[in-house]
Amino acid sequence: MCECPYCEHTTATVVTIQNALETYVCDYCNKEFTSVCFSNQTHATAFAEKVKQITDDLAELLISKNKKYGNSALDPIRVFSSANPTEQLLVRLDDKLSRIKTQHITEDEDVLEDLLGYLVLLKISINKD
Ligand SMILES: [Zn+2]
Repeated sequence: MCECPYCEHTTATVVTIQNALETYVCDYCNKEFTSVCFSNQTHATAFAEKVKQITDDLAELLISKNKKYGNSALDPIRVFSSANPTEQLLVRLDDKLSRIKTQHITEDEDVLEDLLGYLVLLKISINKD
């Protein structure tokens, strides 16, 4: 737990960031200080928020696609192919990866989203098997 060096209060607010060094003001005594502990906590929180933002967006995308197109990835219609859903997802992943390899796409948002999405679906499919 991080503490104010003057009064030992455990919450403080960032006031300035200079050269990656944050200055905090204690929420209780209002004195300013710098703190490695608060700084690490601030960076950990920022990282956690970024991870949450991306995974929340992905979840929303997958859920909305599932509503729009039905459960086709996990419950394919199997007219021509009799491969099970896991095998079909592996084929879709290989197709995507092969496109990345041949077209050298590395920063295309849609491609990254598709890959992440297929990997999540693959995990669901494997857990069902
Ligand atoms: Zn204080």
